[in-house]
Amino acid sequence: MDKVPRYVFVTGGVVSSVGKGIVAASLGMLLESRGLKIAMMKFDPYINVDPGTMNPYEHGEVFVTDDGAETDLDLGHYQRFTHAKISQKSNVTAGSVYNAVIQKERRGEYLGKTVQVIPHITDEIKARIRMLTAEPEDEADVAIIEVGGTVGDIESLPFLEAIRQYHLDISPVPCCFVHVTLLPFIAAAGELKTKPTQHSVRALRDIGIFPNVIICRSGTHSLSPEHRRKIAMFCNVTEDAIIGAEDISPVYAIPLNFRRQHFDDIVLRVLQLDAPEGDLTAWCQMLDRMKNPRYEVRIAAVGKYIAHDDAYKSINEAFAHAGIANDCKVHLQWIDSEQFENGVSPEDVLKDFDGVLIGPGFGKRGIEGKIRAVQYVREKRVPFLGICLGMQIAIIEIARNCLGLKKANSTEFDPDTPDPVICLLTEQQGIKEMGGTMRLGAYRCVLKPGTLAHQAYKRDIIFERHRHRYEFNNAYRSRMEQEAGLVVSGVHPRTDHELVEISELRDHPWFCASQFHPEFTSTPMRPQPLFTAFIKAALERKISSNHA
Ligand code: GLN
Repeated sequence: MDKVPRYVFVTGGVVSSVGKGIVAASLGMLLESRGLKIAMMKFDPYINVDPGTMNPYEHGEVFVTDDGAETDLDLGHYQRFTHAKISQKSNVTAGSVYNAVIQKERRGEYLGKTVQVIPHITDEIKARIRMLTAEPEDEADVAIIEVGGTVGDIESLPFLEAIRQYHLDISPVPCCFVHVTLLPFIAAAGELKTKPTQHSVRALRDIGIFPNVIICRSGTHSLSPEHRRKIAMFCNVTEDAIIGAEDISPVYAIPLNFRRQHFDDIVLRVLQLDAPEGDLTAWCQMLDRMKNPRYEVRIAAVGKYIAHDDAYKSINEAFAHAGIANDCKVHLQWIDSEQFENGVSPEDVLKDFDGVLIGPGFGKRGIEGKIRAVQYVREKRVPFLGICLGMQIAIIEIARNCLGLKKANSTEFDPDTPDPVICLLTEQQGIKEMGGTMRLGAYRCVLKPGTLAHQAYKRDIIFERHRHRYEFNNAYRSRMEQEAGLVVSGVHPRTDHELVEISELRDHPWFCASQFHPEFTSTPMRPQPLFTAFIKAALERKISSNHA
């Protein structure tokens, strides 16, 4: 018989954004440290089939998996904290569940029955839970499943009902329910309040879910023994299973706070599993390096005005990881590119930085300003990293200012440009549907020896993830290489032609731009090579200019 994992379900109460993703990821990390194999999954109660069509400035970043799924940013946390395989199966939205059920109904698979939330939607959700670990290579000891949204929301109900049933279905095998809540601090009373937690646990119990562990977010205040006693008594949970979760920075320190409070021991006790105590030495050493850096660098990220902190989550984290690798604190500052279109000179703003990033993006706004920023870093020999749109901008700038193709552009921004140095592949032409139709997921990239990219990765072949429609136009490749100093340092070989995946400049200390997204594979224990090399170059520039 297939090996069936034990399940941990993580729910949230009181407010949204309470930190369920980090709780789930931290638990995964602690269980892995004890030798257990884990699987991770997130339910999202919205009706979008995936977050790929959602505005990242409202919803946060779209995290892309190796197999090309566009997923919620919490999956990025899972990947940064654990070794769990993150794939298409790891993110299940209400939209994808309804979509599957409606398609089955159209095919007549419900044999004339009325199709309903219970049992048809809940059955589909339960099938997704089983699918997560059904293949032999996906087997796990523990599957951690985070239910997005907040208990009490209408949208979350089918998911909560499904996990309630699932618990019953696999009984007597135990499940562990972890509920994450907020204790608001009322300044006038000078105390943390437990009442909203009591109410949210009551709402959960009404649905038939009885939490085994309650994680209490408490801001900058700490949980007293009195709070623990009170929550334990009102919520019917043992006192040791009330876990305090003060705000802690950096996020990678959070698992250690949970470990001190025996969160993992309690979960294993509920699951009736035995596992030896974990060894967290390497993680602690990583944290130590992160907290006590010897150097610092300033990096400018030139882009649109960013209101949502999470819109570039993986990039922010990848810089923190590259900092660990270089014993260096990376200060990342977002710079609005539109000012460079309105009379502000890039030099005036960017001269105080040790390196410049142009990151991913869509749409025309701010493009010309970004092109000016690239011209500045190319001419002034400032370390530059371009990611996806960042590479496309670099190619446009080089074509315009080194080849003299003054109107060179991407057909995304100017469909009638005489020099479409960035354009759609034939297979992308004619696509009308927005969802899931970009070039997505990991592709093989062959690196050219002797290039910056090869020096960074120290490998001939790499796999990195993509999320874009437009590509480098090979019609311009030989001129760009021969006349403009461009080096194509990595390609994806295909039978018809090669796709340019990463390129750099011959006469520049460090100028590298990739069509793929290196940020999606970075973790604090394995910092991403391209980010690491970029920060190293920025640091070297800073040190040498200080001594100049
Ligand atoms: N808009 C560009 C494209 O679709 C770049 C996308 C991105 O930066 N992720 O190709």
